[in-house]
Amino acid sequence: MRNFHYKKYKAESLYDYEPWSITENEFKIENKHHNESIFALGNGYMGLRGTFEEDYTGSKNETTPGFYVNGIYGSEKIIYGEEAPNQPDTSQTIVNLADWTSINLYIAGEKLDLLTGEVIDYERTLNMKEGYLKRSFFWISPKGKKMKITITRIISLNYQHNAVIKFNIKPLNFSSEAILTSKIDGDVTNHHHFRKDKVVKTLDKGFSGYGAYLMQYVKSTDLSVNFAIKHKVNDEYKDDYYLEGSSGPETIVYEYRIDLDEGKEFSLEKFVSVYTSLDISKERLIRRSFDKLNQAYNVGFENLKKEQKTFLAKYWDDVDVTVDGDPGLQQALRFNAFHLLQSTGRDGFSNVPAKGLTGEFYEGHYFWDTETYIIPFYLYNRPELAKKLLVYRYNILEKARINANRVNLDGALYPWRTINGYEASGFFMGSTVQYHIDADIAYAIYQYVTATDDYQFLYKAGAEILVETARMWYSLGSYIDIRDGAFCFNEVCGPDEYKPGVNNNCYNNYMAKFNLEYAVNIITEMQKEVPDLYYELKHKVDFSESELIDWEKAAANIYLPYNEKLGINPQDDSFIYKNPIDIDDIPDEELPLVKNWHPLTIWRYQVLKQADVILLMLLLGNEFSVEQKRANYDYYEPKTTHDSSLSPAVYSIIAAEVGYYDDAYYYFNQIARLDLDDYNENTYQGVHTAGMGSAWMTMVYGFAGMRNYNGLLHFKPYLPKQWNQYKFTIKFKGREILIKINERGAHYHLLEGADLTINHLNEEVVLSTKREVSLSLKEID
Ligand code: BGC
Repeated sequence: MRNFHYKKYKAESLYDYEPWSITENEFKIENKHHNESIFALGNGYMGLRGTFEEDYTGSKNETTPGFYVNGIYGSEKIIYGEEAPNQPDTSQTIVNLADWTSINLYIAGEKLDLLTGEVIDYERTLNMKEGYLKRSFFWISPKGKKMKITITRIISLNYQHNAVIKFNIKPLNFSSEAILTSKIDGDVTNHHHFRKDKVVKTLDKGFSGYGAYLMQYVKSTDLSVNFAIKHKVNDEYKDDYYLEGSSGPETIVYEYRIDLDEGKEFSLEKFVSVYTSLDISKERLIRRSFDKLNQAYNVGFENLKKEQKTFLAKYWDDVDVTVDGDPGLQQALRFNAFHLLQSTGRDGFSNVPAKGLTGEFYEGHYFWDTETYIIPFYLYNRPELAKKLLVYRYNILEKARINANRVNLDGALYPWRTINGYEASGFFMGSTVQYHIDADIAYAIYQYVTATDDYQFLYKAGAEILVETARMWYSLGSYIDIRDGAFCFNEVCGPDEYKPGVNNNCYNNYMAKFNLEYAVNIITEMQKEVPDLYYELKHKVDFSESELIDWEKAAANIYLPYNEKLGINPQDDSFIYKNPIDIDDIPDEELPLVKNWHPLTIWRYQVLKQADVILLMLLLGNEFSVEQKRANYDYYEPKTTHDSSLSPAVYSIIAAEVGYYDDAYYYFNQIARLDLDDYNENTYQGVHTAGMGSAWMTMVYGFAGMRNYNGLLHFKPYLPKQWNQYKFTIKFKGREILIKINERGAHYHLLEGADLTINHLNEEVVLSTKREVSLSLKEID
């Protein structure tokens, strides 16, 4: 057994291993922050943390409720310890918006409160198959009134502006007058990041024949958000209540007075719709929110719920990966796929925040995480969503040009952290220095185009990105005499953030070469195949043919680090000369280093935060032999702390490729249940979307050994000994393939589309819809 330089596999989980749901069986206050992230709901447009509808003793200070709309942010002036020229001057931070979920119940002077009286059979379930969150329990009030409470929440996946809560009360041993208050509370603040207390203000609110509305305004970014709400009482009580609406300075409150009858269930449905000034003009916000609200109201709660299930049935049909023999992993894979869907902007103007829409950490920013760790999941399951994410990059290209100019470069440099397209990070050693984001985007375009044949996108949008990113690389690099005239990139940072400001990061250089060559190939192809589009592009970006020659020459001469003596690819010019350190000697409480050591301390050691050269071994895998990958794995694995959740999956995938099957399984376990079991002890901040995408990559790229090299799918599948079978589908060039791996072999079944040639263990095989092809697995010792 190899020595793992990483945390131990966690055997305990807060949740039973259910295949399609996550259930909390007991209300334990100490888990509340964590569960607010786990039980968050969203639909890519908006996201809601899993905070309860009703208050409980101390809940005001105890909970971190959050409601976010993807792309709605506030700004502040960035304060620098020491000023430097051309730094970004304003931040971008996702804003915690009005809390529209609040519902409180008072029965004859007693308030429903889970920390008083007695709670029996408490259960909160995230139903991932049907897309709702349900909480049910019996409550016996301090004075002995017993009732059953059931609360169901849906953020509609079909109607992205709508959400609904159904609050049921069944009095079991009493009849009494009760009051139910339902509120939208605009008096909210962010829990983190802003210096200023109030970033969002309530501008307007009121009642109309349609319901009530509350309009919020983020002054620093001139963005408005409108909420409209409307309630429905169940037929059994429809003539038995008295309703009063009132409004405070920043709130709208509905108060229902009802005469509860023993045994007769009362139910209140609270419909909400949300629109922002990113969707439509401010003048139309209220009207549009009411239109959408009424639409959902007319569809009704039960139908919304049914349609949610139908939406998800299609989703699961596309994305589900099944593992036979490990219920914990099965649950985790679904949990990850569910949260990815909830986090992904689908409109081409929003993207996937690093923590999804489940928390404020990382400020709601989009990173390279999307292209490298999330797009693969969509590309082979829902290619149209992968496209939307790339369209987002196209839509911010102009801002990336401005960003390049900020640091005296040509072309476009994509921001490291952003929401609106401009660089939002004030820490350039961790941000702007990661030029590799340009190549990551170019690589994602290549993956997308070779997997979909979407030349329309390539020639109309992708090519422009390729030109501008190639220009960036060409202006960043230089021919360096002392390096035998090689084209070098200095003062950069690769994916490993523990080594910023280095020369010739290996990942960076290889990926820059890829980016330059891909740009040359595509432009040359356009000149021949689609001259009209080529001239359009040439004119638009003022392209000169001599640029092609420059890029080609630079790419051919890029310095590609290799050290004969060690037989590895050094991470950069200085890495192998840094101070050695045995990372097993670092006390647990000092990890992650990023939180505990001064950057200067980290920088001087041979220690990595995350996969760097090993990621390169995955992305450009056809340029390295298995021996080379193994040598690099042997060298870097003992030096990597995996302080970033973007790391374990990549190690798992390469471990699988080089035959380290225990490592592969071990690292997969580290990432699959990362959030459910809180490996990094920070899930309360929000879920790790890149980690979730990377868990899917581990199944498909790791265990099944799938790679897309130039539009040909390669597989090197094996079955981890812990499982009986695993199975998934892949969309590729208009086809759908079902892949099943079990003891009897690898079984490929083309479900849809024309015959397709794939490569299985280095042999070409033709798949057709007529029959399943069964082949032997990769041999493992
Ligand atoms: C990682 C980055 C990543 C960011 C957001 C950091 O800890 O080092 O690679 O982009 O988190 O997930």
